[in-house]
This record gives sequence, structure tokens and C-alpha cells, in this order.
Amino acid sequence: MSETNTAAAADQSLFPTYARYPVALVKGDGSWLWDDQGKKYLDFMSGIAVTNLGHAPKQIKAALIKQLDELWHVSNLFHIPNQAEAAKLITDNSCADAVFFCNSGAEANEAAIKLARRYNQKVLNNGRYEIITFEQSFHGRTLATLTATGQAKVKEGFLPLPEGFKTIPLNDLDALKAAVTDKTAAVMLEMVQAEGGIHPVDPAYMKELAALCEQQGILLIVDEIQTGMGRTGKLFAYEHYGIEPDIFTMAKGLGSGFPVGAMAAKEKLREGFTAGSHGSTFGGTPIATAVVKATLETIVGDDLSARAAQQGDYLMAQLREKLEGNAFVQEVRGLGLLVGIECAGPIAEILNAAQERGLIVISAGPNVIRLLPNLLVTKEEIDTAVSIITELLEAKSL
Ligand SMILES: *Cc1c(COP(=O)(O)O)cnc(C)c1O
Repeated sequence: MSETNTAAAADQSLFPTYARYPVALVKGDGSWLWDDQGKKYLDFMSGIAVTNLGHAPKQIKAALIKQLDELWHVSNLFHIPNQAEAAKLITDNSCADAVFFCNSGAEANEAAIKLARRYNQKVLNNGRYEIITFEQSFHGRTLATLTATGQAKVKEGFLPLPEGFKTIPLNDLDALKAAVTDKTAAVMLEMVQAEGGIHPVDPAYMKELAALCEQQGILLIVDEIQTGMGRTGKLFAYEHYGIEPDIFTMAKGLGSGFPVGAMAAKEKLREGFTAGSHGSTFGGTPIATAVVKATLETIVGDDLSARAAQQGDYLMAQLREKLEGNAFVQEVRGLGLLVGIECAGPIAEILNAAQERGLIVISAGPNVIRLLPNLLVTKEEIDTAVSIITELLEAKSL
């Protein structure tokens, strides 16, 4: 029995929560992946914006192995030096002053929602609890974060949902003003809606939104889970907008493939949590935070955000040039290495055809091809991907 068959047989013991490709990837190095049949792929998906430093990056691997030799896990009832140092790297390189570690994006957003509510209810004593979020957003799969998510499909069958969330259209200031009440605790959004189709928020709107939050004492929560860790050409995407969130969240690229999440906030929010008010058994273990440290040191030390900006500009310029006049392509848009190609129809078969050609890409909604290469991707690799995509889209445009 081939390994693919073994994987298919094992899948009978799993919940069918994913529509999986009939491929088992077993090895990775930099921008490249290999399946169990020995076929090689150029990876422009990066585990959905997770392996931002490529597969099996050497510095991260060395830090992980060193920590595995020393200590794997201790309770958060003890000081964890790696955790404090990883937190300091985040606060030194962002607008935040305090960090809470957890294990995933959804948990980071849960922590943000809980902190926003608790700060209003226990520090300001104003009883505010409502969180305003946006149509087409994605914030995770826990009950609170799927309620915050502006997509009906993730909510189906999970009623009743938690109270205190309102979803409004993005880039519509009147809708925002109409949604704010004396119960509004926070506004939560992505700087580029990623799962929702690669839609960067309008810069003028974002300034107004931030100003309105400031005026009315509403907390601004930015979900940087997909946009963070250098992907958009800045360490955090909010930096493009000239605003500072009160709270922001990280996960995907934070551990270079090791599962870890974090919520970071400004000084005034520190007292929103007290000992025992929030926690996580696995949040910020010595291993996870050794990886976070090495990841941040690499991204910041090697200025990989600037590299992502450059390579992203090159990727988008190449796509725009090569796809110009293609009747099937409506728009190429994005920020840094978070890039979408909006098409005139469904693109599922293009993803399959790309895979056959040895290129792994993903969708962002039914009509958008999403490109998420790692931050170290080379021009040659970009050229290879662009030429495969161009050929497949040319066939569609005929
Ligand atoms: C992936 C993602 C999440 C959820 O992260 P998980 O680790 O899957 O829980 C939340 N928000 C955004 C913007 C994401 O891209």
C-alpha cells in the first residue's frame, strides 16, 4: 500500500472537517515541498501564511533543538524566561506594552475579546460589552470568534451564538456611526481581509475609524493573525495605516510552523487582566517561545518585512504585466506578500491544475486566487509561479 493510501485509510478515523487534496506532503525545504510519491512543489501557500520563513528554517530549527534538550514544559505558575523575552521582542517592535501567549489565532482573538470586555467592565466600570466586527471578516472557529466572523457559512448549525457582537459593512463610516452605542466596548478588524478575498481596508476610512474609537473611548482591536510577522511588508499591517491599535493578535507566522498565538495590548489594558482572570496551560511554553524568539529575531534582524515589501511589489507587478488584457482576470491586489487575483468565475479547477504543474496556491473565497509565498522567496521562484499561473489563466480567458 502506498503512503497516500495509508493516509486515506487513516482519514477514516478523522472527522471530515477538511476537503483535502489527494496529496500527502511529507518533506519541506525553503520554498519547496515534496509529496510521498517524490513529486516536488513550489509552495505559494505556506500552510496559509504560517511558514513565513520557509520550510524547516535553520535558525528556528537550531533554537527548537536547543530548547528540546533543556526543558519542554512548565506551568505558567512559574517564570518562563523565553516567554518574557519573546514578549519583550513583540513590545519592542510594536505599539504594545503587554503580551499574553496562547496556542492559536482563535484563542488570541478570544483573549482580545475577553480583555476588551473585562477592561470596560472591571477597570472602567462602564458595563460595555459589545464588539463591532465586519462583513467578510474571519476571526476563528471558537464560539465567540465565529460569532465575530462576518461570514454566515462558519456559523451554520452552531446556534445559539454568544451575545454582544454586531457585524457591519467595511469601509462605510455611516454604518459604523450607526452601530456604535453606549454599550460598544471595541471594534475588531483585519487590515487586509484575507479569508474574505484579500481586501485591504481603505486607508482614509481606517483613519476615521481609529479617530472615532479614540473619541468615544472604544477599543480598537486589529487581527494580525494572517497579516502579521512581516507578511504585508511591515512587521504588522497596522503600520501601513498610521494608526495604533489598543489590542492586536498574532498566530500563524509567529512560530514559523510551531503552533503558538499571542495577544498584545497597550499599557492601560494591562490591569484589564489580573491573576486568575485568564490563562492557558500551554500558552507560551519554553519550547513555543524559544521558537517565537528565534522567529522574531530573524524577521526583525534580517529586515524580512522590507524584503516582503520588495518581493510583493515584484510579484504584483509581474502578475499585472503578464495578466494584462486577460478577460478572466478582474484585479490583482494585495499588500506585500499577501496577494489576490480576483477572477470572473470559480477558480477551484485552476488550483488543481496548478498543483498538477507543481505549484501550490490557495483560494480566498470562490473567485480569488491567493498567493502567500514565504518572505524569503526569490525572484526566480516568483517568475516560475507567475508563469504557471499566467498559462493557466490564459487558457481560461480564451
Ligand atoms: C487563520 C486566522 C484566524 C484563526 O486562526 P486559528 O489559528 O486557525 O485559530 C483568525 N483570524 C485571521 C485573520 C486568520 O487568518
